[in-house]
Amino acid sequence: MNKKFNAPQGLLLVVSGPSGAGKGTICGLLRKALPELAYSVSVTTRQPREGEVDGKDYFFKTVAQVKDMIFRGELLEYAQVYGNYYGTPKPYVQQLLNEGKDVLLEIDIQGALQIKKVFPDGVFIFVVPPSLEELRARIYKRGKDSEEVIEKRLKAATSELGYAGEYDYIIVNDVAEKAMQRVLTLLEAERYRAGRTYFIVDQMIHPEK
Ligand code: 5GP
Repeated sequence: MNKKFNAPQGLLLVVSGPSGAGKGTICGLLRKALPELAYSVSVTTRQPREGEVDGKDYFFKTVAQVKDMIFRGELLEYAQVYGNYYGTPKPYVQQLLNEGKDVLLEIDIQGALQIKKVFPDGVFIFVVPPSLEELRARIYKRGKDSEEVIEKRLKAATSELGYAGEYDYIIVNDVAEKAMQRVLTLLEAERYRAGRTYFIVDQMIHPEK
């Protein structure tokens, strides 16, 4: 009998998508709805924004520190996003999954595709805006970027949309609360996958194990 059924692992939930699609908002709502869901705090070399707390929002590191972590194999994945390094610390995620806890990663597409190679059993969710017009309106609304940057982000987002097919689920973020509910629904279904629940049956037919 396959050994993996004896020790159910936590579920690895990977949420990504083009910038401006609203994955951060959805993940925030999800964490409120599921307080038991562990959130992996990433390392980054970008400067903290106002109100961000080291160790809670990110572990803020220097480029040398992140390169060191990469060299020592301490990151599950890493990527350069808008000129800064971002990465997922490996030991924390691995430990939580081994303890049977579900873990949420909110990372960019390059990172998600790296994770997929190491954790093909993860649940990969791609968040998309309802339309490109809506995406443009959202980036404008943020009011942080110049016209040129907005156009660059839109262009990047359009080509990033092409990766949607690599994911298990596509969630349209029309209304954030509704989109989060959709994620809850698919999570519920994922928990009942035979590969994740077979251990229950296995214990019935092999109680001696
Ligand atoms: P921000 O700087 O706005 O917090 O994040 C910029 C982008 O980096 C977002 O798309 C976010 O999802 C992504 N990101 C955050 N943490 C990680 C990480 O650990 N790995 C990767 N690959 N991307 C990340």
